[in-house]
Amino acid sequence: MHTTNIYINKAQFIANLNLIRNKIGSHTKLCLPVKANAYGHGLVNMAQIAAPHVDYLAVACLDEGVELRRNGIRVPILVFGAFDDQQISALVANNLEITITSLDKAKILADYCYQAETICQVHVKIDTGMGRVGASMNEAEELVNFVASNPVLEMIGVYSHLAASDSPNRTLTELQIERFTHIAKFAKSLKPEVMCHLANSGGVIYYPESYFDMVRPGIVSYGYPAHPESALELLPVKPCLQLVSHIMQLKQIAPETGISYGHRYVSKEQENIATIAIGYGDGFRRLLSTLDQHVLINGKKYPIVGNICMDMLMVSLGKDSAQVGDKVIIIGIDGSEEIQIRELSDKLHTIDYEILVGFTSRIPRIIV
Ligand SMILES: *Cc1c(COP(=O)(O)O)cnc(C)c1O
Repeated sequence: MHTTNIYINKAQFIANLNLIRNKIGSHTKLCLPVKANAYGHGLVNMAQIAAPHVDYLAVACLDEGVELRRNGIRVPILVFGAFDDQQISALVANNLEITITSLDKAKILADYCYQAETICQVHVKIDTGMGRVGASMNEAEELVNFVASNPVLEMIGVYSHLAASDSPNRTLTELQIERFTHIAKFAKSLKPEVMCHLANSGGVIYYPESYFDMVRPGIVSYGYPAHPESALELLPVKPCLQLVSHIMQLKQIAPETGISYGHRYVSKEQENIATIAIGYGDGFRRLLSTLDQHVLINGKKYPIVGNICMDMLMVSLGKDSAQVGDKVIIIGIDGSEEIQIRELSDKLHTIDYEILVGFTSRIPRIIV
């Protein structure tokens, strides 16, 4: 068995969801995005924990939705991604709510429904400024009108996505909110109970006027606001994930001893080296070998030395000692020390999202 695990603090995750609930108020619904393995936390586990606390779940694609249904998840599930024509029957059979991104897609879906003598539940996606998927502003009313008046398409929602809601520059977000307000008004004039939704994490934290009928905060639900300095006052969420491994082997090395592939690290003096069972095969990126990354052992920081391997890495304990089997915190808190995801994402010039979803399936996700 792999001795490296991701521990999910269930109580902290639920606390984050409740903080969001309190912030958005009782008239706004909460949709939790669980795409990409629930941001690396484990798709089914996180959905099961969240289900009693949210109104909706959202996934990126058919397979993720099917996985949830297979595991007994009953809450409404919205599929964000554009569908492939071959996927329609499975989407409908699994009671997944479908995103319509264009008039062409709406017509394909309606044709399918007429032939299969069924109705499907859809959300119309409008591109208010993300430049990705959805009807552009000049096509939006036509598409909403087509869907709203089509008897086989049940227009559950109309939505759009914010492109820069975590940026200090508010111009684009304000424009997107204004555009979406216009479309939402139009959609409600055709169908008053249609659910309009726009806000992602940044929207939830910084733009109450972006809430409409439902919000879709992803990263912040897992405890990672983009700018914790300003966000934590508004929404004091905390990470619910720890990445923990163990010491597999200890050795005392003489001065001038090379460590790991290529001997990029050579000891200057006698020191103790611990080998840890995690590597880039687990999503712990090899580039961190050169970026002065530490781990925590018995509440103390120790540097990773030499190249990170696929399944292992080495840490220098200096003159300190430890025991084989001792816990090694890769991400998380140990005593007064903490290693945050942000430390890795900053060093790797990326965002917390990418580090989180990069942890591979080899690491068991354990709920505590
Ligand atoms: C991923 C996603 C979200 C959540 O985004 P966060 O930045 O994680 O809050 C919301 N809506 C859509 C359409 C998405 O694709």
